[in-house]
Amino acid sequence: MKDPDAEARMHQNVFICMKCNAKRRAKSKVNLLCRKCGSNSMRAKKKAAKK
Ligand SMILES: [Zn+2]
Repeated sequence: MKDPDAEARMHQNVFICMKCNAKRRAKSKVNLLCRKCGSNSMRAKKKAAKK
């Protein structure tokens, strides 16, 4: 996947719950709650390390 637009779509606006690792798409993590455990400890998804 070398298309930067696709990369952005894949990895931006995706957040991971730090408690249960559930993924959520959102525009920002403000007021973002995990769907599974209700935690608001969300982190941005990192880019996958690919060549
Ligand atoms: Zn969670």
